[in-house]
Amino acid sequence: MRLKPFNTFSLNVYAHRVATAHNEAQLFMLWKQALQMNRPVLLLGSGSNVLFLENYTGIVLLNRIKGIVIQEDAEAWYVHVGAGELWHDLVTYTINRQIPGLENLALIPGYTGSAPIQNIGAYGVELQDFCKYVDIIQLDNGKKIRLSALECQFGYRDSIFKHNYRDNYAIVAVGLRFSKFWRPVLNYGELRLLNPHHITPRQIFDTVCTMRRNKLPNPKIGNAGSFFKNPLIDTKTATQLLTCYPDIPYYPQTNGGVKIAAGWLIDRCKLKGYQFGNAAVYEKQALILINVGHANGSEIATLAKYVRDYVADKFAIWLEPEVRFIGAEGEVDAIGALS
Ligand SMILES: Cc1cc2nc3c(=O)[nH]c(=O)nc-3n(C[C@H](O)[C@H](O)[C@H](O)COP(=O)(O)OP(=O)(O)OC[C@H]3O[C@@H](n4cnc5c(N)ncnc54)[C@H](O)[C@@H]3O)c2cc1C
Repeated sequence: MRLKPFNTFSLNVYAHRVATAHNEAQLFMLWKQALQMNRPVLLLGSGSNVLFLENYTGIVLLNRIKGIVIQEDAEAWYVHVGAGELWHDLVTYTINRQIPGLENLALIPGYTGSAPIQNIGAYGVELQDFCKYVDIIQLDNGKKIRLSALECQFGYRDSIFKHNYRDNYAIVAVGLRFSKFWRPVLNYGELRLLNPHHITPRQIFDTVCTMRRNKLPNPKIGNAGSFFKNPLIDTKTATQLLTCYPDIPYYPQTNGGVKIAAGWLIDRCKLKGYQFGNAAVYEKQALILINVGHANGSEIATLAKYVRDYVADKFAIWLEPEVRFIGAEGEVDAIGALS
């Protein structure tokens, strides 16, 4: 079955089958069927963080378990969300119900069940700022487990789900907590221009939506958002870099390291608009790789390797892909694929 509608790079790849699960029992049953057929399984939301390198031989399982339940006490709202709720719909839903918190995370593509995996973040806010727990089903035995936020080991575009739980689990729900003592986060981009004393979550939501619509490619152009993570480097390296390039955007981290803008590094290599076959570096935002026509996964990967090698040559910094690489049998190591 065609996967073109299920990956935002819009790559024309195929899977053996695509199946949709609307509840936990269905999810487990489809998984068991795939095992009986001796086929691998790939859980997918909207495919906005994956690069299919080739056709997938297994079953793609779309998790569409829905439902939003809200409870509250004097201090906070507690929102339990099914993994199959679209993330931006959830953000809109909470903002419409006067529950603030997610406004900076508006318009991030994908489903709620995928959000904890790379601890989605934008404009100074991350999922981990609100996440209380993540419910998963272990697919080899059907057992449901609730992981606390601590157990999820959230980090920058990272969580336990990228490591210990590979391949044999499905996220089925996410629990979020929103404090009733809301504080706006206005440290990034045009949000800095807003007055923190007279600001509403709705205004931030609207500003974020406008910024993202201006910055990101039209969704009809195949892409997966930021292709690489912003590199975290040690303070000594950052100081050396800043001496040579005083205009480099950098963000000191609480753990002592410094995060620098990968887009700036790529831009400084003059790679904006650079094209390889049907893959290109987006001319308005160097961190985004786009499918300009009928690209295949290996063209995108070849371009990514070129960009990564170029940046390493110029700055001695190796960029790490944020996007997950999927081969014929399942996920493959993205850094390995670019080395
Ligand atoms: C234009 C654009 C802008 C973006 N902007 C941002 C941004 O600002 N910040 C940010 O953090 N990200 C951003 N992204 C990346 C992407 O939107 C997020 O990573 C999102 O959470 C992916 O959701 P998805 O449902 O599409 O996941 P998919 O791409 O479908 O899946 C991602 C990974 O999660 C696994 N998976 C999916 N669902 C489940 C499940 N229920 N259980 C277990 N595993 C599962 C998949 O197997 C895959 O490995 C952007 C992407 C695009 C295209």
